[in-house]
Amino acid sequence: MFNGFVLVSLVLCLAASTMWVSSYRLPKTWLITSRPDRAMFASSKNGELRFWEQKILQPVPLGLVVKLQTPDVGVVTSADGSSAVTNYWMTGPLIAEQYGMSSDVRPGAFSINGQHSQFVLLRRQLLLPWWPLPFVSALPIVFAIAMWAVRRRRTKVGHCAACYYNLTGNVSGVCPECGKPIASKA
Ligand SMILES: [Zn+2]
Repeated sequence: MFNGFVLVSLVLCLAASTMWVSSYRLPKTWLITSRPDRAMFASSKNGELRFWEQKILQPVPLGLVVKLQTPDVGVVTSADGSSAVTNYWMTGPLIAEQYGMSSDVRPGAFSINGQHSQFVLLRRQLLLPWWPLPFVSALPIVFAIAMWAVRRRRTKVGHCAACYYNLTGNVSGVCPECGKPIASKA
């Protein structure tokens, strides 16, 4: 009854439930990858799981590299890495709060050596609600319990657990219909 599949789904269900609840109490944001001009983030916040990618579109002044380190703060350096952390900010609307895949562009700006520069940030995201995940991951457990209950009921009323053949008066210990050994009623 407790095979590996059910155990895995139990672990997933517990993990998803914990993440769902803690997304309200302890919202988190993670930086997954950060390459020049592009970064991937994930967050668990207010019952929602979000993955998104931010990419700097042109124009970025020649010889500068913008590295995104948090969703709202980046580091601008020269291409050879010699300078410099500067101010960096975003303006414009937040990304659409809709479930599934979506994308938007936000204008942004930074200053380096007293010079202001503008750029456009492309964001693509996948937004999912946490609540279905514990339920979906629990389905194999519900299925296993239902199968166990059906089998138990069949054997209790004197039928084969596998094919429901009536075993009244059977002495061989094997179902004559499907050949399965008969479970003891103990
Ligand atoms: Zn049978």
